[in-house]
Amino acid sequence: MTAYLDHAATTPLRPRALDAMMPFLTDDFGNPSGAHSTARRARKAVDEARDSIADCLGVRPGEIIFTSGGTESDNLAIKGVAPGRQMLSSAIEHPAVLEPVRRRSGHFCSVNKDGQVDIGSLESIGFEPGLVSVMAANNETGVIQPIEQVRNAFARRRVTLHSDAVQAVPWLDPADYVAHAELISVSAHKFGGPKGTGALVVKSGTALEPLLHGGGQERELRSGTQNVAGIAGMAAALREVRDGVDQERTRVLTLRDSLITGILHDVPGASLTGRPELLLPGHAHFRFEGIESEALLVLLDEAGIAASAASSCASGALQPSHVLTAMGYSVEESRSGVRFSLGWTSTSQDVDMVLKVLPDTVKRLRAAA
Ligand code: PLP
Repeated sequence: MTAYLDHAATTPLRPRALDAMMPFLTDDFGNPSGAHSTARRARKAVDEARDSIADCLGVRPGEIIFTSGGTESDNLAIKGVAPGRQMLSSAIEHPAVLEPVRRRSGHFCSVNKDGQVDIGSLESIGFEPGLVSVMAANNETGVIQPIEQVRNAFARRRVTLHSDAVQAVPWLDPADYVAHAELISVSAHKFGGPKGTGALVVKSGTALEPLLHGGGQERELRSGTQNVAGIAGMAAALREVRDGVDQERTRVLTLRDSLITGILHDVPGASLTGRPELLLPGHAHFRFEGIESEALLVLLDEAGIAASAASSCASGALQPSHVLTAMGYSVEESRSGVRFSLGWTSTSQDVDMVLKVLPDTVKRLRAAA
Protein backbone atom coordinates (compact mmCIF):
# COMPACT_ATOMS: atom_id res chain seq x y z
CA MET A 1 0.00 0.00 0.00
CA THR A 2 1.24 3.52 -0.82
CA ALA A 3 0.28 6.52 1.26
CA TYR A 4 -0.02 9.09 -1.54
CA LEU A 5 0.61 12.49 0.02
CA ASP A 6 1.59 14.43 -3.08
CA HIS A 7 -1.73 15.86 -4.29
CA ALA A 8 -0.12 19.25 -4.91
CA ALA A 9 2.04 17.58 -7.58
CA THR A 10 -0.86 15.76 -9.17
CA THR A 11 -4.07 13.99 -8.18
CA PRO A 12 -5.60 10.65 -9.18
CA LEU A 13 -8.24 10.96 -11.91
CA ARG A 14 -11.78 11.09 -10.53
CA PRO A 15 -14.00 8.26 -11.87
CA ARG A 16 -16.57 10.85 -12.97
CA ALA A 17 -13.92 12.63 -15.02
CA LEU A 18 -12.90 9.36 -16.66
CA ASP A 19 -16.56 8.58 -17.50
CA ALA A 20 -16.96 12.02 -19.04
CA MET A 21 -13.81 11.54 -21.14
CA MET A 22 -14.43 8.03 -22.47
CA PRO A 23 -16.87 8.85 -25.31
CA PHE A 24 -14.38 11.33 -26.77
CA LEU A 25 -11.54 8.83 -26.62
CA THR A 26 -13.67 6.27 -28.48
CA ASP A 27 -16.77 6.80 -30.64
CA ASP A 28 -17.14 10.59 -30.46
CA PHE A 29 -13.69 11.39 -31.76
CA GLY A 30 -14.71 14.31 -33.98
CA ASN A 31 -12.85 17.57 -34.46
CA PRO A 32 -14.96 20.28 -32.80
CA SER A 33 -14.22 22.72 -35.62
CA GLY A 34 -15.92 20.54 -38.24
CA ALA A 35 -19.46 20.74 -39.61
CA HIS A 36 -20.77 17.14 -39.74
CA SER A 37 -22.59 15.42 -36.94
CA THR A 38 -19.52 13.61 -35.52
CA ALA A 39 -17.78 16.97 -35.27
CA ARG A 40 -20.89 18.64 -33.87
CA ARG A 41 -21.03 16.13 -31.00
CA ALA A 42 -17.47 17.06 -30.06
CA ARG A 43 -18.32 20.75 -30.41
CA LYS A 44 -21.33 20.33 -28.13
CA ALA A 45 -19.14 18.66 -25.48
CA VAL A 46 -16.64 21.53 -25.58
CA ASP A 47 -19.45 24.11 -25.38
CA GLU A 48 -21.11 22.33 -22.46
CA ALA A 49 -17.80 21.98 -20.63
CA ARG A 50 -17.10 25.68 -21.15
CA ASP A 51 -20.53 26.60 -19.74
CA SER A 52 -20.06 24.33 -16.74
CA ILE A 53 -16.50 25.49 -15.93
CA ALA A 54 -17.55 29.13 -16.28
CA ASP A 55 -20.46 28.50 -13.94
CA CYS A 56 -18.18 26.81 -11.36
CA LEU A 57 -15.70 29.71 -11.46
CA GLY A 58 -18.29 32.48 -11.60
CA VAL A 59 -17.22 33.89 -14.98
CA ARG A 60 -18.81 34.02 -18.46
CA PRO A 61 -18.35 31.08 -20.87
CA GLY A 62 -16.72 33.43 -23.39
CA GLU A 63 -14.06 34.23 -20.81
CA ILE A 64 -12.70 30.64 -20.70
CA ILE A 65 -9.77 29.82 -23.03
CA PHE A 66 -8.83 26.13 -23.03
CA THR A 67 -5.09 25.39 -22.88
CA SER A 68 -2.77 22.43 -22.31
CA GLY A 69 -2.49 23.16 -18.57
CA GLY A 70 -1.16 25.53 -15.95
CA THR A 71 2.20 26.14 -17.62
CA GLU A 72 0.64 27.22 -20.90
CA SER A 73 -1.98 29.35 -19.16
CA ASP A 74 0.72 31.17 -17.18
CA ASN A 75 2.87 31.70 -20.27
CA LEU A 76 -0.09 32.98 -22.30
CA ALA A 77 -1.04 35.42 -19.54
CA ILE A 78 2.46 36.78 -19.10
CA LYS A 79 3.72 36.88 -22.65
CA GLY A 80 0.37 37.88 -24.12
CA VAL A 81 -0.30 40.97 -22.04
CA ALA A 82 1.14 44.41 -22.41
CA PRO A 83 4.11 43.68 -24.68
CA GLY A 84 6.70 46.34 -24.07
CA ARG A 85 5.37 47.31 -20.64
CA GLN A 86 7.10 46.42 -17.38
CA MET A 87 5.95 43.41 -15.38
CA LEU A 88 6.10 42.31 -11.79
CA SER A 89 5.52 39.01 -10.04
CA SER A 90 6.07 37.71 -6.55
CA ALA A 91 9.35 35.92 -5.90
CA ILE A 92 7.53 32.71 -4.91
CA GLU A 93 5.65 32.02 -8.14
CA HIS A 94 5.82 28.68 -9.93
CA PRO A 95 8.59 28.55 -12.58
CA ALA A 96 5.83 28.76 -15.24
CA VAL A 97 5.45 32.39 -14.12
CA LEU A 98 8.97 33.17 -12.89
CA GLU A 99 10.71 32.13 -16.11
CA PRO A 100 8.59 34.15 -18.57
CA VAL A 101 8.80 37.16 -16.23
CA ARG A 102 12.59 36.78 -16.03
CA ARG A 103 12.87 36.47 -19.81
CA ARG A 104 10.95 39.73 -20.20
CA SER A 105 13.32 41.42 -17.71
CA GLY A 106 10.49 41.70 -15.20
CA HIS A 107 10.73 42.54 -11.52
CA PHE A 108 10.08 40.37 -8.46
CA CYS A 109 8.55 41.53 -5.23
CA SER A 110 9.36 40.10 -1.82
CA VAL A 111 7.31 38.00 0.57
CA ASN A 112 7.20 38.15 4.35
CA LYS A 113 8.23 35.49 6.86
CA ASP A 114 4.72 33.99 6.69
CA GLY A 115 5.18 33.41 2.95
CA GLN A 116 2.68 36.07 1.85
CA VAL A 117 3.37 38.79 -0.68
CA ASP A 118 4.56 41.94 1.03
CA ILE A 119 1.85 44.48 0.20
CA GLY A 120 3.98 47.39 1.44
CA SER A 121 6.66 46.59 -1.13
CA LEU A 122 4.02 46.50 -3.87
CA GLU A 123 2.63 49.87 -2.88
CA SER A 124 6.04 51.48 -2.98
CA ILE A 125 7.36 50.20 -6.33
CA GLY A 126 8.74 53.06 -8.34
CA PHE A 127 7.32 52.21 -11.76
CA GLU A 128 3.98 51.49 -13.42
CA PRO A 129 3.80 47.78 -14.42
CA GLY A 130 1.53 46.68 -17.27
CA LEU A 131 1.11 43.25 -15.67
CA VAL A 132 1.28 42.02 -12.09
CA SER A 133 1.24 38.27 -11.40
CA VAL A 134 0.58 36.90 -7.91
CA MET A 135 -0.57 33.33 -7.33
CA ALA A 136 -3.76 32.61 -5.36
CA ALA A 137 -1.90 30.07 -3.19
CA ASN A 138 1.66 28.79 -3.21
CA ASN A 139 2.34 25.27 -4.45
CA GLU A 140 5.18 24.48 -2.01
CA THR A 141 3.95 25.91 1.27
CA GLY A 142 0.21 26.13 0.55
CA VAL A 143 0.18 29.73 1.83
CA ILE A 144 -2.87 31.59 0.52
CA GLN A 145 -2.02 34.97 -0.98
CA PRO A 146 -3.89 38.23 -0.30
CA ILE A 147 -5.13 38.75 -3.87
CA GLU A 148 -7.72 41.36 -2.89
CA GLN A 149 -5.03 43.44 -1.19
CA VAL A 150 -2.77 43.06 -4.22
CA ARG A 151 -5.60 44.41 -6.39
CA ASN A 152 -6.15 47.30 -3.97
CA ALA A 153 -2.46 48.16 -4.04
CA PHE A 154 -2.89 48.85 -7.76
CA ALA A 155 -6.43 50.21 -7.60
CA ARG A 156 -5.54 53.55 -9.11
CA ARG A 157 -3.12 52.22 -11.70
CA ARG A 158 -3.79 50.76 -15.16
CA VAL A 159 -2.55 47.28 -14.31
CA THR A 160 -3.66 43.84 -15.54
CA LEU A 161 -3.59 41.35 -12.66
CA HIS A 162 -2.87 37.69 -13.35
CA SER A 163 -3.36 35.06 -10.67
CA ASP A 164 -2.12 31.49 -10.95
CA ALA A 165 -4.94 29.62 -9.20
CA VAL A 166 -3.63 26.15 -10.05
CA GLN A 167 -3.33 25.10 -6.39
CA ALA A 168 -6.26 27.16 -5.11
CA VAL A 169 -9.00 25.73 -7.34
CA PRO A 170 -9.68 22.51 -5.38
CA TRP A 171 -10.05 24.38 -2.09
CA LEU A 172 -10.86 28.08 -2.21
CA ASP A 173 -14.08 29.85 -3.09
CA PRO A 174 -13.42 31.17 -6.63
CA ALA A 175 -14.81 34.53 -5.53
CA ASP A 176 -11.67 34.94 -3.39
CA TYR A 177 -9.43 35.24 -6.43
CA VAL A 178 -11.62 35.47 -9.56
CA ALA A 179 -13.17 38.78 -8.56
CA HIS A 180 -9.81 40.53 -8.26
CA ALA A 181 -7.85 39.41 -11.32
CA GLU A 182 -8.36 39.79 -15.07
CA LEU A 183 -6.43 36.61 -15.92
CA ILE A 184 -6.64 33.35 -13.93
CA SER A 185 -4.73 30.09 -14.61
CA VAL A 186 -6.31 26.70 -13.94
CA SER A 187 -4.95 23.15 -14.37
CA ALA A 188 -7.22 20.08 -14.39
CA HIS A 189 -4.79 17.51 -12.95
CA LYS A 190 -4.61 19.32 -9.60
CA PHE A 191 -8.26 18.58 -8.87
CA GLY A 192 -8.90 15.08 -10.19
CA GLY A 193 -9.01 15.93 -13.88
CA PRO A 194 -6.62 14.72 -16.58
CA LYS A 195 -3.09 15.98 -17.14
CA GLY A 196 -2.41 18.21 -20.14
CA THR A 197 -5.64 20.20 -19.84
CA GLY A 198 -6.19 23.62 -18.35
CA ALA A 199 -7.76 26.98 -18.89
CA LEU A 200 -6.96 30.63 -18.74
CA VAL A 201 -9.81 32.89 -17.66
CA VAL A 202 -9.55 36.08 -19.71
CA LYS A 203 -12.03 38.63 -18.39
CA SER A 204 -13.79 40.55 -21.14
CA GLY A 205 -12.04 43.76 -22.09
CA THR A 206 -8.56 42.34 -21.30
CA ALA A 207 -6.21 42.81 -24.24
CA LEU A 208 -4.25 39.61 -24.91
CA GLU A 209 -2.02 38.48 -27.78
CA PRO A 210 -1.94 34.73 -28.63
CA LEU A 211 1.23 32.67 -28.32
CA LEU A 212 0.07 30.17 -30.95
CA HIS A 213 -1.16 31.14 -34.40
CA GLY A 214 -3.10 28.75 -36.60
CA GLY A 215 -6.73 27.81 -37.01
CA GLY A 216 -8.02 30.52 -34.70
CA GLN A 217 -9.69 28.28 -32.12
CA GLU A 218 -10.55 29.67 -28.66
CA ARG A 219 -11.47 33.13 -29.91
CA GLU A 220 -8.17 33.31 -31.82
CA LEU A 221 -6.30 33.22 -28.52
CA ARG A 222 -5.20 29.59 -28.60
CA SER A 223 -5.05 27.94 -32.00
CA GLY A 224 -4.99 24.15 -32.14
CA THR A 225 -7.64 21.42 -32.11
CA GLN A 226 -9.12 21.27 -28.63
CA ASN A 227 -8.43 18.30 -26.37
CA VAL A 228 -12.11 17.34 -26.23
CA ALA A 229 -11.75 14.41 -23.82
CA GLY A 230 -9.49 16.41 -21.51
CA ILE A 231 -11.88 19.36 -21.52
CA ALA A 232 -14.88 17.11 -20.76
CA GLY A 233 -12.89 15.47 -17.93
CA MET A 234 -11.83 18.82 -16.49
CA ALA A 235 -15.45 20.05 -16.45
CA ALA A 236 -16.67 16.87 -14.69
CA ALA A 237 -13.86 17.03 -12.12
CA LEU A 238 -14.45 20.70 -11.37
CA ARG A 239 -18.19 20.16 -10.98
CA GLU A 240 -17.52 17.37 -8.47
CA VAL A 241 -15.06 19.59 -6.58
CA ARG A 242 -17.47 22.50 -6.35
CA ASP A 243 -20.44 20.29 -5.35
CA GLY A 244 -18.50 18.72 -2.47
CA VAL A 245 -16.05 21.40 -1.47
CA ASP A 246 -17.47 22.26 1.97
CA GLN A 247 -17.48 18.67 3.18
CA GLU A 248 -14.15 17.90 1.57
CA ARG A 249 -12.48 20.94 3.12
CA THR A 250 -13.60 19.87 6.59
CA ARG A 251 -12.64 16.24 6.05
CA VAL A 252 -9.17 16.98 4.67
CA LEU A 253 -8.51 19.75 7.19
CA THR A 254 -9.15 17.30 10.04
CA LEU A 255 -6.73 14.77 8.54
CA ARG A 256 -4.13 17.43 7.74
CA ASP A 257 -4.29 18.93 11.23
CA SER A 258 -3.81 15.54 12.85
CA LEU A 259 -0.76 15.06 10.63
CA ILE A 260 0.64 18.44 11.69
CA THR A 261 -0.01 17.83 15.38
CA GLY A 262 1.50 14.34 15.20
CA ILE A 263 4.65 15.42 13.36
CA LEU A 264 5.28 18.41 15.63
CA HIS A 265 4.80 16.16 18.67
CA ASP A 266 6.75 13.09 17.50
CA VAL A 267 9.60 14.50 15.40
CA PRO A 268 12.07 16.70 17.29
CA GLY A 269 13.41 19.60 15.19
CA ALA A 270 10.39 19.66 12.86
CA SER A 271 8.86 23.07 12.07
CA LEU A 272 5.72 23.80 10.08
CA THR A 273 6.22 26.34 7.28
CA GLY A 274 3.61 29.11 7.26
CA ARG A 275 0.90 29.94 9.77
CA PRO A 276 -1.79 27.19 9.81
CA GLU A 277 -4.63 29.69 9.34
CA LEU A 278 -3.03 30.89 6.07
CA LEU A 279 -2.65 27.44 4.52
CA LEU A 280 -4.72 25.58 1.94
CA PRO A 281 -6.47 22.66 3.69
CA GLY A 282 -4.38 19.96 1.99
CA HIS A 283 -0.88 21.36 2.56
CA ALA A 284 1.55 20.59 5.39
CA HIS A 285 5.11 21.69 4.63
CA PHE A 286 7.84 21.05 7.20
CA ARG A 287 11.49 21.84 7.64
CA PHE A 288 13.42 19.11 9.44
CA GLU A 289 16.49 20.48 11.19
CA GLY A 290 19.75 18.90 9.98
CA ILE A 291 18.04 16.77 7.31
CA GLU A 292 18.46 16.85 3.53
CA SER A 293 14.99 16.47 2.10
CA GLU A 294 16.23 14.32 -0.77
CA ALA A 295 17.54 11.58 1.56
CA LEU A 296 14.38 11.68 3.65
CA LEU A 297 12.15 11.41 0.59
CA VAL A 298 14.03 8.34 -0.67
CA LEU A 299 13.54 6.55 2.65
CA LEU A 300 9.88 7.57 2.85
CA ASP A 301 9.36 6.27 -0.67
CA GLU A 302 10.95 2.94 0.28
CA ALA A 303 8.51 2.77 3.17
CA GLY A 304 5.58 3.40 0.80
CA ILE A 305 5.03 7.11 1.42
CA ALA A 306 4.87 9.49 -1.54
CA ALA A 307 5.70 13.08 -0.55
CA SER A 308 7.88 15.68 -2.20
CA ALA A 309 10.29 18.53 -1.69
CA ALA A 310 8.04 20.66 -3.82
CA SER A 311 10.70 22.12 -6.04
CA SER A 312 11.56 19.07 -8.07
CA CYS A 313 12.09 19.92 -11.70
CA ALA A 314 11.56 17.70 -14.74
CA SER A 315 15.03 16.14 -14.33
CA GLY A 316 14.05 15.06 -10.81
CA ALA A 317 16.90 17.09 -9.31
CA LEU A 318 16.13 18.88 -6.06
CA GLN A 319 17.16 22.52 -5.80
CA PRO A 320 17.10 24.56 -2.60
CA SER A 321 13.56 25.92 -2.60
CA HIS A 322 13.32 29.45 -4.03
CA VAL A 323 10.14 29.84 -2.01
CA LEU A 324 11.81 29.12 1.33
CA THR A 325 14.79 31.29 0.37
CA ALA A 326 12.42 34.15 -0.46
CA MET A 327 10.80 33.69 2.97
CA GLY A 328 14.20 34.33 4.55
CA TYR A 329 15.30 30.77 5.34
CA SER A 330 18.96 29.81 4.89
CA VAL A 331 20.08 27.58 2.01
CA GLU A 332 20.47 24.71 4.50
CA GLU A 333 16.91 25.22 5.78
CA SER A 334 15.68 25.54 2.20
CA ARG A 335 17.09 22.10 1.46
CA SER A 336 15.36 20.53 4.47
CA GLY A 337 11.75 21.11 3.36
CA VAL A 338 9.28 18.30 2.76
CA ARG A 339 5.72 18.80 1.59
CA PHE A 340 2.91 16.43 2.47
CA SER A 341 -0.16 17.32 0.44
CA LEU A 342 -3.53 15.69 0.94
CA GLY A 343 -6.46 15.55 -1.41
CA TRP A 344 -9.63 13.80 -2.43
CA THR A 345 -8.28 10.23 -1.97
CA SER A 346 -6.49 10.86 1.35
CA THR A 347 -7.48 8.78 4.36
CA SER A 348 -6.59 8.52 8.05
CA GLN A 349 -4.50 5.42 7.17
CA ASP A 350 -2.23 7.67 5.09
CA VAL A 351 -1.72 9.97 8.06
CA ASP A 352 -1.15 7.03 10.44
CA MET A 353 1.46 5.59 8.13
CA VAL A 354 3.46 8.85 8.07
CA LEU A 355 3.27 9.15 11.84
CA LYS A 356 4.44 5.55 12.21
CA VAL A 357 7.38 5.82 9.79
CA LEU A 358 8.62 9.42 9.93
CA PRO A 359 9.97 9.77 13.50
CA ASP A 360 12.30 6.76 13.21
CA THR A 361 13.36 7.67 9.69
CA VAL A 362 14.39 11.17 10.77
CA LYS A 363 16.19 9.72 13.80
CA ARG A 364 18.08 7.25 11.58
CA LEU A 365 19.15 9.97 9.14
CA ARG A 366 20.38 12.19 11.97
CA ALA A 367 22.32 9.28 13.47
CA ALA A 368 23.91 8.53 10.09
CA ALA A 369 24.93 12.17 9.69
N1 PLP B 1 1.33 26.75 -11.31
C1 PLP B 1 1.35 26.12 -10.12
C2 PLP B 1 1.11 26.91 -8.88
C3 PLP B 1 1.57 24.74 -10.05
O1 PLP B 1 1.57 24.13 -8.86
C4 PLP B 1 1.78 24.03 -11.26
C5 PLP B 1 2.08 22.57 -11.23
O2 PLP B 1 2.76 22.09 -10.34
C6 PLP B 1 1.75 24.73 -12.47
C7 PLP B 1 1.53 26.08 -12.46
C8 PLP B 1 1.95 24.03 -13.78
O3 PLP B 1 0.77 23.35 -14.14
P1 PLP B 1 0.81 22.18 -15.24
O4 PLP B 1 1.44 21.00 -14.59
O5 PLP B 1 -0.64 21.94 -15.56
O6 PLP B 1 1.56 22.69 -16.41
